[in-house]
Amino acid sequence: MTVPTAVRLLRSVRVLDPGSGRDQPGCDVLIEGPRIAAIGRGLPVPPGAELWSHPGSVVTPGFLDLHCHLRDPGAPEEETVATGTAAAARGGFAAVCAMANHAPPIDDPARLAAARAHDAGQALVPVHRFAACTRGLAGAEPVDVDGCVAAGAAGFSDDGRHALGPVQLEWVLRAAARHGRVVAIHPEDEVALAAVNAGGAPATWAHRPGGAEIAAVRSALKVLRALAGTGARLHLQHLSTAEAVAALRAARAEGLPVTGEVTPHHLALDAPPGGPPGAPWKVNPPLRGPEDRRALWAAVRDGTLQAIATDHAPHEAAVTTGDPWRDAAGISGLETALAVCLRLPGAAAALPQLVAALTVGPWTVLGPAAGVPRPALRVGGPATCTWFDPEERWTPAREADAWRSRGRNTPFWAAPLTGRVLATLVGGRPAYRRAASPAEPVHV
Ligand SMILES: [Zn+2]
Repeated sequence: MTVPTAVRLLRSVRVLDPGSGRDQPGCDVLIEGPRIAAIGRGLPVPPGAELWSHPGSVVTPGFLDLHCHLRDPGAPEEETVATGTAAAARGGFAAVCAMANHAPPIDDPARLAAARAHDAGQALVPVHRFAACTRGLAGAEPVDVDGCVAAGAAGFSDDGRHALGPVQLEWVLRAAARHGRVVAIHPEDEVALAAVNAGGAPATWAHRPGGAEIAAVRSALKVLRALAGTGARLHLQHLSTAEAVAALRAARAEGLPVTGEVTPHHLALDAPPGGPPGAPWKVNPPLRGPEDRRALWAAVRDGTLQAIATDHAPHEAAVTTGDPWRDAAGISGLETALAVCLRLPGAAAALPQLVAALTVGPWTVLGPAAGVPRPALRVGGPATCTWFDPEERWTPAREADAWRSRGRNTPFWAAPLTGRVLATLVGGRPAYRRAASPAEPVHV
């Protein structure tokens, strides 16, 4: 007796796969077990198949988040691997890259191996781990890059800090290049931040001007330029200013191997008026203004920025201390990323570029050596895909029981949003399936 294979037919969906250039409405997608068995119009429904249909819906390769904070191991009260990856799946992400700034940071092969073993027992979608660039993110002593790669590092980043100077950055870029791994930086020059904050420790820095971002970007590009031919690749995380985007565009035109990302909140939100914002509007780098937002969105559409990354940074429910500068920085962003992007001007027309920045774009940043499967929809390939309704309206706060992340620190908590994930499949397995509405038959 054989175990029956799960068979699902997605009926009459728009199949959108930016990596192959496919964009076809009215298609069916047949999924048998872990694989895509057929894509085409009017496919017959195999006996016993589940029929998934939802008018106006879109199927894309599974989203890949290049930048999130899972907190666990270290601070499971803020997020666990289980809740963080459930939030990812609800947001359409079929895989995530987790940064290394845990408590303590993931800055040696043993800690990385332990985190990966921990993930294996809990994660609802695959977690790809970044290792730190320097011990303790302190910018001085580089990590054991070879050992971290052997332990499974998908890339390297001191995200949360940018204490490393040009000498350390060059060392890590060279070492990571030997393994085809990218080095990602949180570009906010700490010398510049310390200067405008009259010294003090990073945690107390109140003012984070855009000048600190462009200073870090220029300095890192200078290091990269001197490494031509070594295979070194640099990635600029969560860019927030028009000036930094312009520098990235110029560097790419020059042929430098540099990529960049932007968060949904930096694309969608301006800094609130009147004084420094507290939670949940407080993020590093800070929200800027309309001119910066427009430049960031234009850079997604023209491919200068390869990735939209959530920088999902959950904190416990009581996030506001009343003192903006004591509030923890960060937005719990996995579950709202798609809807926040869909509210951008012209998003419907730019859907192929937007989906590219959530799928094949971030994969390109990591590079093939990182061992992350390339997001794609192809017959015979893995059924790892995201199915969503770009028109459905919802409000996170009205569905508190369905929110998966432990962090509710988001300015979108009570916002009416448009665009909702219906299901996220990982190798044919539903990591998330929104409860079907009455209009949505699930069985034939
Ligand atoms: Zn960061």
